[in-house]
Amino acid sequence: MTTTVTAYAATSATDPLTKTTIERRDVGPHDVAFDIAFAGICHSDLHTVREEWGNVTFPLVPGHEIAGVVTEVGSEVTKYKVGDRVGVGCFVDSCRECDNCRAGEEQYCTNPGMVGTYNGRGRDGKPTQGGYSQAIVVDENYVLRIPDSIPLDKAAPLLCAGITTYSPLRHWNAGPGKRVAVIGLGGLGHLAVKLAVAMGAEVAVLSQSLKKMEDGLRLGASEYYATSDPDTFKRLRGSFDLIINTVSANLDMASYLGLLNLDGTLVELGMPENPMPVPAGALIFGRKSISGSLIGGIRETQEMLDFCAEHDVTPEIEVIEASYVNEAYERMLASDVRYRFVIDNSTL
Ligand SMILES: [Zn+2]
Ligand SMILES: [Zn+2]
Repeated sequence: MTTTVTAYAATSATDPLTKTTIERRDVGPHDVAFDIAFAGICHSDLHTVREEWGNVTFPLVPGHEIAGVVTEVGSEVTKYKVGDRVGVGCFVDSCRECDNCRAGEEQYCTNPGMVGTYNGRGRDGKPTQGGYSQAIVVDENYVLRIPDSIPLDKAAPLLCAGITTYSPLRHWNAGPGKRVAVIGLGGLGHLAVKLAVAMGAEVAVLSQSLKKMEDGLRLGASEYYATSDPDTFKRLRGSFDLIINTVSANLDMASYLGLLNLDGTLVELGMPENPMPVPAGALIFGRKSISGSLIGGIRETQEMLDFCAEHDVTPEIEVIEASYVNEAYERMLASDVRYRFVIDNSTL
């Protein structure tokens, strides 16, 4: 027995998403079922359905920034009850046994890897389907609690964009006395700025132009620079302890590494299409590092939600009807959104 729910799905890499129905599994002993109130739209959704990251199984329902209210819990569930405000991020399961899972870093599960919220395969052998749908059933260990003070529409983007930026800021100790630069002021970047500011760091935005400067400063950045201006790289030489790159464009690594101070780190969050050459000298002089970071584990995602509630950090969003999703994709591609689209799932 399964439950049929309405959803928006991609049926091929080239056709627009269309309204359809999908099946949700029955609630097992450890499962939480919830009605999805809002689902954020992430760049990964678009890359995945267009098969830019490899082949997928169609039909595919994207969406891994999911917020809603619990409607049913399994007999063994202890963490949640009907009526609780909950969310699900980028994965819905993992092996639970490898070192990384045991350490609460399920996103780095090695056996063989986390089960994506969509385009994954569940324990029942069926493809997982994401948040552009009325309801979802997820094991309680992969469900997050949304604090009361965060509205569900604003909570949704925190489940991917929020944790993707929070985790590296925490890992590399953004805080008082640290100078952090955020490359790109988009869905990820605007949250990186807010979070780093809330952690007490001094934050600069490095953007292609000064078009969004007013926004950047309003969000808490103390400086804003255009990377199209070569003078920026001279002026800011050796300025930052941490650079968070939220854009997936290919960077001139030598120039950006030049902006780091001694022991500084540049962290990649986006996935540029091509490899980026790194001159060894740009690392050696100043003992600098380049790293990458992928979302965050369940424990840290909960910590991030609680931090956002405590520090009043929420994304800037544009709530849309489900039928607008294809236009939203085009606008997202054109960076024409400030700063995250969120689907109102009651319009499905
Ligand atoms: Zn995402
Ligand atoms: Zn694992």
